[in-house]
Amino acid sequence: MIATQVRETLVESLYASPQSLVIGAVASSAIAVTVATVSGDPWLIIGAVALTLTACARMVDALRPTRPPDERAQRSDLQIKRQELIYLAGALCYSMLLGGFGLLTLTNTDDGVLQLLSVTTTIGYAAGIAGRNAGRPWIALGQLCCASGPIIVGLLVSLDPLKVELAIVIGLFVVAMMSITLQTYDVILKATVASMEKAALAEYNAALARRDDLTGVANRTAFREQLEADFASLPGAGHCLSIHWLDLDRFKEINDSFGHLAGNALLCGIAARLDEAFGRRGIVARLGGDEFAIVCRIQRPGEASGIGREILRLVEQPVQHHGRPLHASASVGIAVAPTDGRDPDTLLKNADLALYRAKDSGRGQFCFYEPVMDEKVERSRNLAAEMKGALGRGEFYLLFQPIFDLQGTEVVSCEVLLRWNNRRYGPVSPVEFVPIAEDSGLIVEIGRWVIREACRSASRWSAEVKIAVNLSPIQLRSPDLPAAILGALADTELPAHRLELEVTESVLLADAEGTIAVLKAINALGVGTTLDDFGTGYSSLSYLTKFPFQTLKIDRSFISDLEQSPASVAIVQTIVELAAKLGMRTVAEGIETQAQLDQLRRTRCDAAQGYFLALPMSASMVGAMLADDRIRARG
Ligand code: C2E
Ligand code: MG
Ligand code: MG
Repeated sequence: MIATQVRETLVESLYASPQSLVIGAVASSAIAVTVATVSGDPWLIIGAVALTLTACARMVDALRPTRPPDERAQRSDLQIKRQELIYLAGALCYSMLLGGFGLLTLTNTDDGVLQLLSVTTTIGYAAGIAGRNAGRPWIALGQLCCASGPIIVGLLVSLDPLKVELAIVIGLFVVAMMSITLQTYDVILKATVASMEKAALAEYNAALARRDDLTGVANRTAFREQLEADFASLPGAGHCLSIHWLDLDRFKEINDSFGHLAGNALLCGIAARLDEAFGRRGIVARLGGDEFAIVCRIQRPGEASGIGREILRLVEQPVQHHGRPLHASASVGIAVAPTDGRDPDTLLKNADLALYRAKDSGRGQFCFYEPVMDEKVERSRNLAAEMKGALGRGEFYLLFQPIFDLQGTEVVSCEVLLRWNNRRYGPVSPVEFVPIAEDSGLIVEIGRWVIREACRSASRWSAEVKIAVNLSPIQLRSPDLPAAILGALADTELPAHRLELEVTESVLLADAEGTIAVLKAINALGVGTTLDDFGTGYSSLSYLTKFPFQTLKIDRSFISDLEQSPASVAIVQTIVELAAKLGMRTVAEGIETQAQLDQLRRTRCDAAQGYFLALPMSASMVGAMLADDRIRARG
């Protein structure tokens, strides 16, 4: 039993050289017509006509294309068998007619030349066919027998010794031809199978080289090829091409918190889902890391938003890993060709810009490319690239903003404020660069450096002033944070009670249990925790009892309103009293005027910070200030 594909190739070999079939058919029909005409025998004339008609039918079958040249799909077994049967019927019919015509020539004429013409033509045809059709040996053997059998019979029945001898010779010749046919078939079959296996292996390897190892979807190479092919067929095709470029939000955090295997499981789960949803409409590829791209043919640009929504929905469904659900969300950038790009590079660049904006505007959403977005996004991306080597180049430094005790007007602590002076962009505000560092995950490394540097500076000051370091939510979720804090304290010999860590409310929203555990671990080291910017965002009073904070920082938006808004006075008053009852200290930030300070003093707020009291300054300036007893806060 041979495989369908092998059989297909062998059957195709029957049609491989139509010219040999045409030459054979034309030559033998011409000889038959000549013999019939010269002999004038009516049976021979009928035979010659039948032969010529069959020859014509076979030539038509042989010259007809078997299938469209670019059709790559394999034909079914049934189709191949049908094709083979058609050939078999024509071949046997023709061979029988030729053999019969030879027999009639031997029996119905006495003309030796006509007999010679018939016999040599038939035997020559039989010999030729045995080699030509060896790929389908039963056809070849059938033709051989059908053509030569009647000749042998015709020679034998003449009882002429010479003709009997010729019949025997032809019989032996037929046996030899059969053996050659079978041997040839054997060789052809082996060669065909071997070449097919080689082709299949090559195809398998090529497919493997185009797959992403981890997720099994297309890789960058396959994606690029497909995109180029899609672009080539775009002009005049009547459809558009959408590209959805997606990036999982904070994938690094998942990797860091749950381990690489969980991260891999998440990528595989999401890739499989996307492939199932969009694989048939276009191509789904992993471009590396946690980035995927999907290219679809769409009829109207508006369809792209439907696809974007579907992508977000699919990504947000949890992926199970060892019984634990892993949650993710994605940001998606969309560009549609030909409007947003007439070549693959432009379209990709614009989809990438759109992705950047999607990330920037809050994650978990999709954004279409808009020409105006280039400049801002370009800056963010360049800053992200610049940030990679910035620590090593010494571009980061710290400023310290003193925080004063409202009662004694002493400096009680200093908030540590990170500054970045980039070689290309100059000073960049933390309001701009901290989110970029959070996106890339670099905040963990930078934050560790901040803690260490801040401890080092504070340990050199004479007075027992505390330092308050801002922590990003990403840092708080990094499992080695307590160890990093402990390491910094040990190396700089700063007593733990002199360090405080400030976190904003946003951190409390996600994973409350985990956050409480980390805050407690920090407190267990003797390090204080402060709730920063209280009053903004979701401010819930339940945070105050639920989470272990020793200090509450009242957001500067309330302070700036103190002079005009009695409501703000009431709010600050209430927060301060509530915090005091819960055993927490309060710090008011953003004091810019004497009036604000006066208002504040009417409350029982513990400490104050603001440009009116002191600007952020270098560590050495704080050192000098602390050493000089005469320098006090205004008031
Ligand atoms: P924040 O923690 O609320 O820091 C206080 C911000 O208010 C600082 O801005 C400070 O310079 C500013 N400020 C102080 N007094 C006044 C005032 O009287 N009026 C006004 N209008 N502003 C005042 P800065 O340094 O630009 O920092 C902005 C934010 O960047 C910080 O807000 C903090 O969330 C973040 N940040 C700064 N350094 C770090 C850091 O080392 N790590 C992390 N994760 N975030 C940091
Ligand atoms: Mg702060
Ligand atoms: Mg603040």
